Amino acid sequence: MDKERQAKYIEHLQKMIRIETVSDPDCGSSAENFAEFRGLLWELFPALKEACELREFDGALLLRWKGSDPTRMPVLFMNHYDVVPAREEDWKYPPFAAEIADGKIWGRGTLDDKGGLWAMFEAANELASEGFVPAADIWFEADCNEETFGTGAQAVASWMQEQGMRFGMVLDEGGDIVREPISGAKGTLARLGKFMAYVDRHQVFDVDMPHPVAEMLKILGQYMGRTGKVLEKAGKREKALARLLPAISSAAGAMVSTTIAFTMCGGGEAVNVIPSEAWVIGDMRCSHHQGQESSINAITKIAKKFGLETEVIQREPESRLADFRGEAFLLVRQAVKTCIPGVDDCTPYIMTGGSDARFFDRLSDQCIRFLPFTIDTEQLDSIHGINECVSVDTLVPAVDYYRFMYQHV
Ligand SMILES: [Zn+2]
Repeated sequence: MDKERQAKYIEHLQKMIRIETVSDPDCGSSAENFAEFRGLLWELFPALKEACELREFDGALLLRWKGSDPTRMPVLFMNHYDVVPAREEDWKYPPFAAEIADGKIWGRGTLDDKGGLWAMFEAANELASEGFVPAADIWFEADCNEETFGTGAQAVASWMQEQGMRFGMVLDEGGDIVREPISGAKGTLARLGKFMAYVDRHQVFDVDMPHPVAEMLKILGQYMGRTGKVLEKAGKREKALARLLPAISSAAGAMVSTTIAFTMCGGGEAVNVIPSEAWVIGDMRCSHHQGQESSINAITKIAKKFGLETEVIQREPESRLADFRGEAFLLVRQAVKTCIPGVDDCTPYIMTGGSDARFFDRLSDQCIRFLPFTIDTEQLDSIHGINECVSVDTLVPAVDYYRFMYQHV
């Protein structure tokens, strides 16, 4: 039975990967590809389309699956169907062929985020075709340019605000199920001069232990032997431990302070001409305790010391932390423990990148960022990198997770 389901799921996800929906200001895919993708969705999930009201906002899809109990707060599930570019020559398998090898489907978007979109719709389509009606209104949002501007999601969020809508919970992509939650580091590009080297070697932002991270460490600590004994103390939100974290794990370190990654630089035009100007772009992820203003001030002050000017190129709305003792997180935790085999527990964490959920912060107190796929560290690095892939064995549990959620909201 599971094998049958798996075979069908593989086929559906493969079809979704094979349509190139690259969202990139310079080399984006054609509008026809995006339209073709939307057509494919209704081919794959006809019962869902039948059960829902559908609205479109410049390619972003919004569906409403009407619930039976109007006293319940509506909930919103979201994932996006655009992907970041992929250079075929860098990949083990072509990025848009969705080939199967080593028990995995390889392709851009398998994890970020067509995989999530597929599981979200597959589960709803199944339940709808079985005649299931949710208790609460379930809304689905599928954005078409999350990876660039997120204008689709913004348009949807503004429309919802005009309608005066509020959600009991919002569930977007984000965390995954990982075997080694705290592990190695990803290097930053710190090669352009003393400034970058300085920023790279010094703790230039405020360090603090946010509540969700303390809770995460407390739970993880139980499974981590000797290191764990130290981490369990995080419950007391010790600053000293927060300062230690970046040395233990860059992923965990990114949750206790603002981070900056130098992503692009430039200047010279020819090998024998000294450039009159050079620049570097730092991608900042601002911690909740320090915030944007103060984080930008901190980096500006250091830049000044090195005789550099700074300029904010793009500013994102700030988002709040969800309450890990709230109903939404508890439900996700229960769904994961019930539906994903081999999972001992589920911890809160802080997603350090921005996803579309940031636009929905004003619409709900419970914005959770999570995808029900089991992945390893290589797969985690493949998101926005090369050789992105999803394990075939994780597909059935992912659909079960969404089914569980729809049946309990
Ligand atoms: Zn994404």
